Amino acid sequence: AHQIKAVMVVHNETSTGATSRIGEVRAAMDRAKHPALLMVDTISGLASADFRFDEWKVDVAVSCSQKGFMLPPGLGFNAVSDRARAVAKTNKMPRSFWDWEDMLKLNANGFFPYTPATNLLYGLREAIAMLLEEGLDEVFARHQRLAAATRAAVQHWGLEVLCQEPRDYSPVLTAVLMPPGHDADQFRQVVLDNYNMSLGSGLSKVAGKVFRIGHLGECNELTLMAALSGVEMGLRVAGVPHRAGGVDAAMALLEQPMPGNAPRHLAVVN
Ligand SMILES: *Cc1c(COP(=O)(O)O)cnc(C)c1O
Repeated sequence: AHQIKAVMVVHNETSTGATSRIGEVRAAMDRAKHPALLMVDTISGLASADFRFDEWKVDVAVSCSQKGFMLPPGLGFNAVSDRARAVAKTNKMPRSFWDWEDMLKLNANGFFPYTPATNLLYGLREAIAMLLEEGLDEVFARHQRLAAATRAAVQHWGLEVLCQEPRDYSPVLTAVLMPPGHDADQFRQVVLDNYNMSLGSGLSKVAGKVFRIGHLGECNELTLMAALSGVEMGLRVAGVPHRAGGVDAAMALLEQPMPGNAPRHLAVVN
């Protein structure tokens, strides 16, 4: 009956470490000839996992500065299709700050209706330059590679990746299930206290059951190896049952050179 106004999908699901197949969602909507708008949260996906606003005919995409763009929080981005703009114009809900048209009118001349976070816009310009210098395909491949190395470590430890569907594994982060009887937050605290490394927590349903290893943005082989070492040492110190050597499993994978002539992402050694 075309009562559904919008289909809303999260591109990269940051709490579980699963990536949605947005193109397939679009294809299903097209098959059903459904006029709903397709709205995508690509907050942690954009600039880390391939996202195709035009090709997938996304109507509204939301992203921000503080994930794959490697910036502090403070900027939100929208991409809005002509169709979504037309629908918004028929919307009688009062709004001012959130009005796309006000923003677009001034953006056309390089201005904003309000004072923007100018400092972050300078940062964004540099972040985009860094991403394009490496090459987007190379950036996406780097994320896939670091994710694969992380999963190699997790599997070797005998722990379970929360995402059960291999083709939906997130290139951005990996959520890891704790063995039964072991609290993820206690484990995270041990890692924080001993190695000053903050692992992501489990959210809502999986609170206390999973911890999350981020491998997005300004992250390369060596920064990932440091993180995996912190996890493996933490597992031992916290007395969490596991098979030692996950770090070696990740190293074995990362010892293989990047395919092609991709420039190496600059190593940052702290
Ligand atoms: C981080 C994140 C958010 C939250 O963004 P805020 O700027 O904290 O509101 C929402 N969705 C996804 C998928 C995220 O990764």
